[in-house]
Amino acid sequence: MDSIEDLVAASHILFDQGVLDAFGHVSMRHPQNAGRFLQCRNMAPALVAADDIVQFELDGTPIDAAGRPVYLERFIHGQIYRARPDVMAVVHSHSPSVVPFSVVKTAPLRPLCHMAGFIGKGAPVFEIRDAGGDGTSLLVTDNRLGEALAESLGDESLVLMRGHGVTVVADTLKKAVYRAVYAEINARAQIQASHLGAIEFLSPAEAKAATQQIETQVERAWDMWKRKFLETRQ
Ligand code: MN
Repeated sequence: MDSIEDLVAASHILFDQGVLDAFGHVSMRHPQNAGRFLQCRNMAPALVAADDIVQFELDGTPIDAAGRPVYLERFIHGQIYRARPDVMAVVHSHSPSVVPFSVVKTAPLRPLCHMAGFIGKGAPVFEIRDAGGDGTSLLVTDNRLGEALAESLGDESLVLMRGHGVTVVADTLKKAVYRAVYAEINARAQIQASHLGAIEFLSPAEAKAATQQIETQVERAWDMWKRKFLETRQ
């Protein structure tokens, strides 16, 4: 079962792998209380330690922040945990190679390599204007917007957010980290391949089979990524 130590590691790994920068965040559902989630206080992900982890209600109310500021976009996490009982971890990022796919309607993010089968038939895009009208900051800063985002996610593994970023989910923390890293890698490869010619994507059947096979192997990547951040910390 995922632990607070894993959540701290996830934050560092996602920074190391170029998914998070000073912004973005990862959370996990509380292992003993499905009606709560765990996430660090408002800070740069690469600086997180176990003391920084705060417990939240699914409506985004912090339980033990003790006055420390929390993330403006925590509603992304809470509303996805509410809508998707199967989801145990959420990564929200501004993953640089994924963002272009959020703004070009004719170029959906699709799985082109076996490591990214979780992208499925193509990533849905959340249009914040549909829920918040014109003139929002594009940030998901309340439960109503969080709920609309969760609706756009549906049963998928990730949802792009127009002009903003991406939110990735999974049934374990390690898998969510893996998917966030490979969403970035697939997006980069898709941009590169598109310059060469027409792309042959994974079929839905291949995407499903590849996901089932590859995602039994996420520990291998996790162990390596974790060791890398522990080494760079010394
Ligand atoms: Mn954001």
